[in-house]
Amino acid sequence: MSSNLPRRSFLAAAGASALAFAGAPRVFARNQQRAGGGAGRRPVSIASGNGVPATTKAVELIRDGADPLDAVVAGVRILEDDPNDMTVGLGGLPNEEGIVELDASVMHGPTHRAGAVASLRNIRYPSAVAREVARRTDHVLLVSDGALRFAKRMGFQEENLLTEEARRAWLRWKAGLNRDDNWLEPDQFDLPMTPDNRRGAADAAIDDRILTGTIHCSAVTAGGDLAGTTTTSGLPWKLPGRVGDSPIIGAGLYTDNAIGSAGATGRGEAVIQVCGANAAVARMGAGDHPTDACIAVLKMISERTRARRLQDDKGRPRFNVVMYAVRKDGVYGSACMHEGRQFAISDERGDRLEDCAFLYARD
Ligand code: ASP
Repeated sequence: MSSNLPRRSFLAAAGASALAFAGAPRVFARNQQRAGGGAGRRPVSIASGNGVPATTKAVELIRDGADPLDAVVAGVRILEDDPNDMTVGLGGLPNEEGIVELDASVMHGPTHRAGAVASLRNIRYPSAVAREVARRTDHVLLVSDGALRFAKRMGFQEENLLTEEARRAWLRWKAGLNRDDNWLEPDQFDLPMTPDNRRGAADAAIDDRILTGTIHCSAVTAGGDLAGTTTTSGLPWKLPGRVGDSPIIGAGLYTDNAIGSAGATGRGEAVIQVCGANAAVARMGAGDHPTDACIAVLKMISERTRARRLQDDKGRPRFNVVMYAVRKDGVYGSACMHEGRQFAISDERGDRLEDCAFLYARD
């Protein structure tokens, strides 16, 4: 099912957002008829476009009486387990040294507890480890070796997370990195060593397909309790130790049981710099429809992206960010920087993908 927000109507969405921010209740009511209407259809779960299995599972568990945090963590576990999803858990793309480092966070609305892990190696389920940080420690964020030691103490098994496909993708990236380095594509051995041949076979397509990924999943129960999680292998080929927005509470995830829950995927640096998920929840608290709240965050990012290398020839961000939001009453919305993304949703109308609203239409 596609969004009711007319395509190429981002200006209208932005206008509605401005009015809603001023607190006009009439606009708020009108917005509820729009994309991701959903009022009163709890339980509801929303996720990134790879997350239909996660939202399906989360809603199923909530209907069976599960806590919303357990439900979303069980939902994203399906993707963490999937070696074909190269953006999370097992099979996630590695850092520049070929090592998989995972980030994740959780937030539990009813208790306002939060937990997160960053740069976690060798453990397939970072979202479940993050949940243990929230449950079993007085801290919010554990990183790197400390996070691994904690996970092992909690009974998580260490394993190699680098699948053959991810390893080959990493090698292709190494081979395409620099014309003057000593890495070669296998099929370049027989070619004369001209500058053109040395790097001709680099697989740009795979980079386009997988440059960003991640799964965010939020849910609200029939009684209005919220929870969320965001889990990722981060940006592929990142510097070792780089932490994105996913494990940063307020950036890649924020949940407030009085208002709603929001998350982000895409270029984490940009989301961190505007505290994206927190900003989306704050906008919902001020009266925005979730879709408008997402658009407002994307506008904040766009207006603050000043580095020329991050802008296209029209001065717009060259990267994508997708925001997801669900309100306490079950109304939901999602928006992307650049047209063309979808998000996953499960509610009483079933499990499906819907089109994200967007800030910038395709040229
Ligand atoms: N937001 C994630 C990060 O920056 C990546 C992604 O969503 O693809 O680590």
